Amino acid sequence: MARVPVPEAASPLSVHTGQSIESALAVWGLAQTSGQKAVARRVRRPCVRSIQVGAHSGNVCQTKTAWSGALPVNFDRQQSDVLDEIRRLQSRLRVLQFHHPHQAVSTGPLVPGCEICVRRGYMSFQLGFACNAQCPFCFVETHSLDTPDEDERYHQSALLKQFHRRKDALEGVSLSGGEPLLYLAELQACVSEMRAAKPDLHFWVYTNGILADEEHLRALQALGIQEIRFNLAATNFRGKAVSNLVKAREIFKYLVVEIPSYPKQKGALLACLPLLEDAGIDQLSLQELLVTPANVHRLDGEGYQAGMLFSKKHFLCGSRRMTYEVMQHCAEEGYSFTVNDCSAGRFGRT
Ligand code: SF4
Repeated sequence: MARVPVPEAASPLSVHTGQSIESALAVWGLAQTSGQKAVARRVRRPCVRSIQVGAHSGNVCQTKTAWSGALPVNFDRQQSDVLDEIRRLQSRLRVLQFHHPHQAVSTGPLVPGCEICVRRGYMSFQLGFACNAQCPFCFVETHSLDTPDEDERYHQSALLKQFHRRKDALEGVSLSGGEPLLYLAELQACVSEMRAAKPDLHFWVYTNGILADEEHLRALQALGIQEIRFNLAATNFRGKAVSNLVKAREIFKYLVVEIPSYPKQKGALLACLPLLEDAGIDQLSLQELLVTPANVHRLDGEGYQAGMLFSKKHFLCGSRRMTYEVMQHCAEEGYSFTVNDCSAGRFGRT
């Protein structure tokens, strides 16, 4: 794929590496006042210069990203072309269930975490950004464990404040990272606090599975967590994470494999499906691959922009196509687990 230059973003939201946090906040009309904290996460890559600024005020985090320079992903494709293709692929599958009001087109019933998400009754609790995997597609700027990040403690307490303010409307909380099992002590403390405040909450945990041995799984079980989601794409559907998933079936009521639809890994996923069926997973959730400054330099191909103004996002073309090809394959093979396109409802699209 030819590398085409992406024009300098001309919008007043453009911020470039080197610009001070204060001036970035001022450009975006966000004042940094006492009690607030600004967090900048700079990304320096050979082909991308960008900066993300989050303005926290106890419970609010606004993050904006600008990028510029020559990118390996060409963003010339139109969202309408991608959606037309997805509608054609959906029309070939007779088994589809469309869930509203938020996200999800599936081949069967959804696990409780997804049902809660569809009803918009959850909050996402990211414990931190340390990770023990280095996925080429990872759209989050992660760091290694030996790089302590003081902002993470602040981030956790801001999320707990947000939880207490919203708890009456919440049915569930998703726990993620980075890799949440690297934060087991913090996870235990946060879940215990939230559980004490609202005993009937449903929690679900995302993990890459590398650390999900029986000891860690039992620790989650002891917290009353009933749903776990493995990102087997992090290990290319091989190794210890797969055997840990098999063990998880004995421990958790709901077992999900949730991965980005990354066309380069389609073969590895298809080869693993019989094992997932034998393991008895409840659901395979496939997300359209988000393109961000954290992964754009590792991807190639065509991308497109969805949404507008502050909700603008970029995705890899071919990612959602893969989701429906996998759905078709699973229907033909008669696998018993649900396959879920959990990218469906964003921006009001199907
Ligand atoms: S396991 Fe998740 S957080 Fe870690 S690198 Fe992979 S996608 Fe990113």
